[in-house]
Amino acid sequence: MPSYRDEVLILKRRAYRDHDVLLTLFTKQHGKVAAVAKGVRRPQHKMAGALQPLNWSDVALYRGRSNLETVTEALLKQGFWRIADELERLSWALVLVDVLDQLWPEREPSPPSFDLVAAALGALNEGRPASSVGLAAGFRLLAIAGFLPDMGQCSVCGEAFHRGVVTIDVTSGQVLCQTCAPTHSAADRIRLGSLRSLQYWLRDQPERLGRAVVTGPMKGELEHLFFRYVLHETAKPLKSYQFLQNLDRMAHGPEGGKHADH
Ligand SMILES: [Zn+2]
Repeated sequence: MPSYRDEVLILKRRAYRDHDVLLTLFTKQHGKVAAVAKGVRRPQHKMAGALQPLNWSDVALYRGRSNLETVTEALLKQGFWRIADELERLSWALVLVDVLDQLWPEREPSPPSFDLVAAALGALNEGRPASSVGLAAGFRLLAIAGFLPDMGQCSVCGEAFHRGVVTIDVTSGQVLCQTCAPTHSAADRIRLGSLRSLQYWLRDQPERLGRAVVTGPMKGELEHLFFRYVLHETAKPLKSYQFLQNLDRMAHGPEGGKHADH
């Protein structure tokens, strides 16, 4: 299979040599691959537009002996130009791209993840509430990758959650009801309402991303939990998360408006 065609999301792009770019591509059928596109930084190059970050494009790739593909053709399928109009939208788009880049091994196809992130970029581009789009898509990505426990019942007693707070221990992968949770634990505690939103997002349709919105303390709890999971799996903070935290601080002061009523 030296040459193949696929749909790709452009995760990353950086300048290389005089006129080339190095790309990280999430292909729909072949997983994440690194690729070089030669000459695209020359003025008016016909592939330049299709290979901008966050774009969804059809490409032809040549796989030689190295582990680096060469892009031989690229045609823009969909650009999400309006994402860059607003910092929170852009931040969440970059978070999702970073999660795909950091959590997926190379050449491991995941068409559902591809479709999900493409749908999320579309929803952000439409101006749907950015954090709800980002969190819903982000948690679903974690679920597809197998990093989320069964959120429907207590990991110890097996009961469904009916009252109080729910304890989620990211390290052990347990989700505990109020009776089974140890009193002194560093694990995250979230409101039942936050868990209900999370459960809803995990089974909602990708076309509806950002229609079920969370705000206030529940948003803070779920953001915190999401990035705890990402940090646990990647062992290093995402740059896009730091950017998002700075945005939050600018909007709400040094506490970031999170967990204010715990
Ligand atoms: Zn229990």
